[in-house]
Amino acid sequence: MAPSPLRILPRIHPGNAHFWQGGAAGELRFLRCAACRTWLHPPAPRCPQCLGRELAPEAVSGRGRVVSFTINHKAWVPGEDQPYAIVLVELAEQPGLRLMSNLVGCPPEAARIGLEVRVRFEDCGEAFVPLFEPVDDP
Ligand SMILES: [Zn+2]
Repeated sequence: MAPSPLRILPRIHPGNAHFWQGGAAGELRFLRCAACRTWLHPPAPRCPQCLGRELAPEAVSGRGRVVSFTINHKAWVPGEDQPYAIVLVELAEQPGLRLMSNLVGCPPEAARIGLEVRVRFEDCGEAFVPLFEPVDDP
C-alpha cells in the first residue's frame, strides 16, 4: 500500500462518532432516516427529503464507484508523500450519497471515473479513516 497522506483527524463527538468509529467494526456508517430510508452525509439534524427527525446510523456495504477524482502532486505539509489520488465516491446504496476520500491499494494514476471501489479503514487511534481501494474481483 502506498504511504498515506498526512491526516488531520477530526474531533469525535456524539454527532459524528458513528462515522469516524464505525471502522473499528469494519463498517462504514451513515445516518439514515427511519421514515423514508434516505441516507444522509454529512450528518444533519433532519432528513433533507422528508424533514424527519428520527435518524440513526446504519452501515452501508462499503461498495461504490469513483464519480470524480484529482491527483495531488504538491507537498502541502512537510513529510507528505505524493502524488496521491483524491476521489469522490458515490456509495452503491443511493445516488448522491457521496464521500470524499483517498484511493489506496493502487498507483494514483489508476484513478478513473467509474472505477469500482470498496472501503477499507486506516486506524488512526480514535478515528478510523475510510479510504477506498479498487475492487478487483469480476
Ligand atoms: Zn426522510
